[in-house]
Amino acid sequence: MTPTLTDPFGRHIEYIRLSVTDRCDLRCFYCMPEGFTDFETPEHWLTFDEIERVIAAFGRLGVNRVRVTGGEPLVRKELPQLTSRLSALPGVEDLSLSTNAVQLAKYSEVLRRGGVQRLNVSLDTLKPERFKAITKGKLEKVIEGLMAAKAAGFNPIKINMVVMKGVNDDEVEKMVDFCLKHGFTLRFIETMPMGDTGRNASDQYIDLQIIKKRLMQRYDLVPGVMPGGGPARYMKVAGTDLNIGFITPMSQHFCETCNRVRLSVDGTLYMCLGQDHNFELRPLLRNGISDSELEAAIIKAMALKPERHEFSDKPGQVVRFMSMTGG
Ligand code: SF4
Repeated sequence: MTPTLTDPFGRHIEYIRLSVTDRCDLRCFYCMPEGFTDFETPEHWLTFDEIERVIAAFGRLGVNRVRVTGGEPLVRKELPQLTSRLSALPGVEDLSLSTNAVQLAKYSEVLRRGGVQRLNVSLDTLKPERFKAITKGKLEKVIEGLMAAKAAGFNPIKINMVVMKGVNDDEVEKMVDFCLKHGFTLRFIETMPMGDTGRNASDQYIDLQIIKKRLMQRYDLVPGVMPGGGPARYMKVAGTDLNIGFITPMSQHFCETCNRVRLSVDGTLYMCLGQDHNFELRPLLRNGISDSELEAAIIKAMALKPERHEFSDKPGQVVRFMSMTGG
């Protein structure tokens, strides 16, 4: 029987978010500061062999869901090689990728063939000028990437929209219609005070309960369900296939059912998005730790996992940017 990883609060850890880079080809103002250059140095990046060893160890401990993220994972060279190695690991049952889709048109086919099953794509607006203002990038690249992913057979494709007051909250209905038209799943996300950028964006915070009520005036929303190990609470547009997820870390947190940990590009295991509790695996990996010792270290590290985030009580607590662990 596969052992399971449990934290001090009795929560079963079955999901690991793997950040393969802290770099990105966009600069979303609520995530990474413009002109930021203090990235992790390449010699500290876990190699593909080291990543495979860690994910295999987690797999043997019953963690069978793996999400590859960044920064932007597609800026890491040879990423499709890594995803096909991870999808071949015995313990990995669900391999997904979070991306900003800027390079997705180029990689969709090879990622799909290499075992990536699901995609989450960040998209906060459908207006090219507003997209440029939020991300410093080009919207058409993202739309091209989405259409290529659809053509490659990815399903579901989930759209993640960070809803911000006075920035894009006037577009939620348009985004619903866009997802209805293309058969995408839509998730709305509240801003979180991660790093200075996240804290600055707190002025644009909007409680998603308000957005849900607004959408109920226009769409017949009924309770919905979607596969995946994430925190979204879903509603469905009646008579359609469209599921709309609400990810509400601020207004209605989901920590009591937390099932995940995060591995950053330099091999640091973060126990919680909203806290700094962590455990360094890289020194152990580079000092010849055995597979069974690695499993024992992971089990020991779970004791560090905190009960919940304190975004509301201590908004200044988390210094690192979202891009360092990939949401
Ligand atoms: S904030 Fe921390 S405890 Fe809460 S769901 Fe996220 S990772 Fe889990």
